[in-house]
Amino acid sequence: MKCSFCGKDQIEVGKIVSGPNGVNICAECIQVCNYILKEENLKKNNKGFSFKNIPTPAAIKNFLDQYVIEQDRAKKILSVAVYNHYQRIKHNLQKKEEKTQKKLKKDFVELDKSNILILGPSGCGKTLLAKTLAKKLEVPFAIADATTLTEAGYVGDDVENVLLKLYHAAEEDLDRAQMGIIYIDEIDKIARKSENPSITRDVSGEGVQQALLKILEGTVATMPYQGGRKHPHQKNIDIETTQILFICGGSFDGLENIIKSRLQSHNIGFNADIMNNRLSEQKDNILKKVLPEDLIKYGLIPELVGRLTIIAPIDDLDEKALMDILVKPKNALTLQYKQIFQNQGVELKFTDSALKAVVKKALSRKTGARGLRSIIEEAMLDIMYEVPSLNNIKECTITDKVIENNEMPLPLCTEKKTD
Ligand code: ADP
Repeated sequence: MKCSFCGKDQIEVGKIVSGPNGVNICAECIQVCNYILKEENLKKNNKGFSFKNIPTPAAIKNFLDQYVIEQDRAKKILSVAVYNHYQRIKHNLQKKEEKTQKKLKKDFVELDKSNILILGPSGCGKTLLAKTLAKKLEVPFAIADATTLTEAGYVGDDVENVLLKLYHAAEEDLDRAQMGIIYIDEIDKIARKSENPSITRDVSGEGVQQALLKILEGTVATMPYQGGRKHPHQKNIDIETTQILFICGGSFDGLENIIKSRLQSHNIGFNADIMNNRLSEQKDNILKKVLPEDLIKYGLIPELVGRLTIIAPIDDLDEKALMDILVKPKNALTLQYKQIFQNQGVELKFTDSALKAVVKKALSRKTGARGLRSIIEEAMLDIMYEVPSLNNIKECTITDKVIENNEMPLPLCTEKKTD
């Protein structure tokens, strides 16, 4: 008797189990199969999210604190929203199951989904917040740019392609994909140009908003597997979007004026001047007073605003925040560079004045924290070029002169390595 899997003889392998239709398997192959199955299960169980241990809002915020500097209020709003989102899905699934098993006789209260809108200046952590949330929850995550989206049938990225990205992020595991988070950036850029749709119908913006609305509300969308245009011979995949959490982000330039004029129009009469003066003083806090009607005025269609029930405004980052971003997060930029140098046996140091110089440059670029990386990268280029071919370098200190004038740090003037 021979094993149908490895082809070895019974004399070589000892025990062989026979199945129907003359199929045999030897003890060795059974062990291999067991191993493969165990590995698969391990991978599945390790990968992620489970309804049994949805992290509490405090645990989520604590995790966000390790990666995102400041934005405290936004972090709190997001932590609660994400916790509620997964509790809601758990409730709906449990009740549905009880209903199908006839344990539950009467209808149950199905909880509606709330999607999230993060608004505030660019480079201040919107994408980072969404990405870090997905990391904590261990759910798949995909990012799309609203400006590249089009309605199905137009040239560009179909809204359904965003779902395909999530599916790929979930390593083509449909169940996991349907629990994921999608971040849609620059949602403000697809705003309708005029509040009155009948006057200037901005077809592209409004069309994309309508298409987005459909997947945000919850639908079964058909994705073309290869990610291209829909084609009858392509393999299609149906993805249910009801449980996917959509987080939209945008800087909404000019929104503060809409909010301000709403607030000012309410202040008529006796104390109006005092109130209006106060409004112009607290410019930074204006975004926190946003209401759905302001977003509609800005050009989002009311149905879409109705689906973005949770609004998390974020603040501009000041000098101190940018300094902290350089050193405090778990994967802070300076720590990353230190690690690269440490791997080459060199201790990298940044003086306080160097960090201040980086921050000063970043502030002048007005792109939030986004400029920090490129500023350091530019300043470090020559050093990173030289260090691997230099002898006896144990330490390298980056000063403000290195950042401001691209000067070489002193120890790099020692002799060159001989190959
Ligand atoms: P946006 O608000 O435009 O989505 P991002 O989240 O993409 O900005 O931020 C760009 C980069 O700047 C991030 O990758 C991160 O390195 C850094 N960054 C921005 N805001 C923060 C923050 N609050 N804390 C830590 N890093 C931040």
